[in-house]
Amino acid sequence: MGRVLCIANQKGGVGKTTTAVNLAAALAAAGRKTLLIDLDPQCNATSAIGGEPTPRHPLVQRTPLRDAVTATEIAGLELLPGSRSFHDVDHLATAGGGESRLVADHLAASLSVYDAVLVDCPPSLGTLTETALATADEVVMPLECEYFAMEGLTQMIELVKRVMTRRNSRLQLGGILLTKHDPHLELTHEVEREVREFFGEAVFQTVIPRDVALAEAPSHGQSIFQYDCRSRGARAYIEVCQEVLSP
Ligand code: ADP
Ligand code: MG
Repeated sequence: MGRVLCIANQKGGVGKTTTAVNLAAALAAAGRKTLLIDLDPQCNATSAIGGEPTPRHPLVQRTPLRDAVTATEIAGLELLPGSRSFHDVDHLATAGGGESRLVADHLAASLSVYDAVLVDCPPSLGTLTETALATADEVVMPLECEYFAMEGLTQMIELVKRVMTRRNSRLQLGGILLTKHDPHLELTHEVEREVREFFGEAVFQTVIPRDVALAEAPSHGQSIFQYDCRSRGARAYIEVCQEVLSP
């Protein structure tokens, strides 16, 4: 079975979806059979690559995941679209975790045909994120180069540790990815220094620049490689992909 990478951070707007979509596209371009799973009820990853949200999601309906997986315009990349009915999953799982375990098992059972699976998590530490972590090999945490970048990170890391000890001993910290990096801003350098000092090797060498092409691509339903393959954003996501693939 391939690697399952969960893209998570409970803060919104930090670049989770941008990273999930473009890293998935880069992995597909590198010849890895890749599945992008949109676990956010906002379904941004789904529309960002030209997909449609599914009204009846297999995680809610308990139908085979395969039935909901669709092809995308990107060779080697398939999509399990998000659903606005995901609140039902959250609702079920508050009962005590048993339900979420079933959902995680259900998810894991269908992933064996892929070399890589990327999960775009919602901006919360709720059941969907926990379920994704329970299924994942690695968690990638995008961090925006802004004030309060590290705020809430402790809670996120606590959740990761809890899932590691209780549910999924395979889970590793795949890395912290600095996003919206602007070398002209002193603040960017301050945040980068602080994050690298604190987390050391766990931080990706590559930083994702603030690049308007990355913000524009989703409105065309395209990855950055389809929209502007020469952009700085495209180059950065190829570099992140190389870091992910290097042993
Ligand atoms: P999240 O999924 O964590 O909420 P998104 O990936 O949706 O974050 O990013 C939030 C917003 O910032 C979106 O409008 C997105 O297009 C934009 N964005 C993300 N990364 C960058 C970047 N590196 N440069 C410029 N805009 C970006
Ligand atoms: Mg998102």
